[in-house]
Amino acid sequence: MSETAPRPAGNSSWYTIKEWFYEPHDYEWIKHQRSSRAIQPIFSALIGVMTIIFGLSAFFKLIGPDTPPTLTGKSLSVVMITASIVVTACWFALPFPGRFGLLAYGIFADLGIGLAVLMVTDRDSGTFGCIIFAVGGTFATLFVSAKWLIAHVLWATTITAIVFVLAFQQGEVNMTTLLARATVLLGVVTLMPIFSHLAWRTLYRDARDSDRDPLTGLYNRRGLDAAIAELLEHARTREECLAFIVIDIDKFKLVNDIYGHSEGDHVIQRTASRLTLHFGHYGVIGRVGGEEYLAVISGAPDKISYLIDSTNSALSDDQDSIPTTVSVGGVIMPTDSKTWAGGASAISLASNVADSLMYQAKTAGGNGLRTTEI
Ligand code: GH3
Ligand code: MG
Ligand code: MG
Repeated sequence: MSETAPRPAGNSSWYTIKEWFYEPHDYEWIKHQRSSRAIQPIFSALIGVMTIIFGLSAFFKLIGPDTPPTLTGKSLSVVMITASIVVTACWFALPFPGRFGLLAYGIFADLGIGLAVLMVTDRDSGTFGCIIFAVGGTFATLFVSAKWLIAHVLWATTITAIVFVLAFQQGEVNMTTLLARATVLLGVVTLMPIFSHLAWRTLYRDARDSDRDPLTGLYNRRGLDAAIAELLEHARTREECLAFIVIDIDKFKLVNDIYGHSEGDHVIQRTASRLTLHFGHYGVIGRVGGEEYLAVISGAPDKISYLIDSTNSALSDDQDSIPTTVSVGGVIMPTDSKTWAGGASAISLASNVADSLMYQAKTAGGNGLRTTEI
């Protein structure tokens, strides 16, 4: 749940572009980030309004003097108007979509815009109409992966090129005017979305990584605080019990002194991976000090007790080239605990108690566990 691989280093522009193109797109993080900042209803409303404007323009065209001449054209207009009403309603009524919904909307918008600009029989106006692809470009910049953005740009550029060729063939606009318009559209429809996506992705990655510890990929203190608050809510609504477990590697300074700092780093990473295997499925894990971790998990009482009791054995292995042990402090908050009512202060209380229990285990000689209920 809380593990991400550390990113390889690299600074060249070519590396940046390759990384941009191939990096997996974290739709869940985007959805979560939007929702947690309460900006999601604003985005939904904005996209909904843009969609209904698109439907309205098709409606005015249908009832105006420029109405599509064929029955197929008229029917397509009706389909587009109906679809835009349904899609707008979805943006207002449903929760912010995940990967599938965002991609489906992007494809719907691109197909609709493509059809609309191709259906405009006055090609002079059609060349202006292609500017509306910029709206699809903005949507793709904010919400979809680089690969889908490139697919959008290729589609938008191809349809725009077709409209310009048709306008040229119709002969109502002279060549230099068409070239001037095409140059503007190349910037707005093709290049701007790519540059904006690249810039936004860099910001997005930095924002996403700011709650992670680069050595282990676990949460840092900042990320952990937000994740614990969410887990607390999750446990409360499901009526599960919650546990705070502080883990500290024993005599870690000796590892650094004997084997060197880099081997010490490996031990810190090894312990983080084992913690993720042991607890990751049940909650969130952070690195809260040099060789100190905090895991917060939720679940059924029996499962929680079993997980805490087996922490020491899950993290140590006699066969390791650098064997280590840990001291563990565990605090369990049962479903009926009065501590729940404390909200944020319950979190700091539970963390502090778990920390002092870990120190009790440490002063008793290490490689041990102390637990309590609060
Ligand atoms: P105790 O049994 O009481 O926990 O003793 P300890 O040696 O584990 O703990 P102490 O706090 O004395 O030392 C922790 C050491 O961890 C000191 C610090 O140099 C080292 N350390 C902190 N962060 C890192 C890191 O990122 N990498 C490495 N290799 N060492 C680190
Ligand atoms: Mg230690
Ligand atoms: Mg320590």
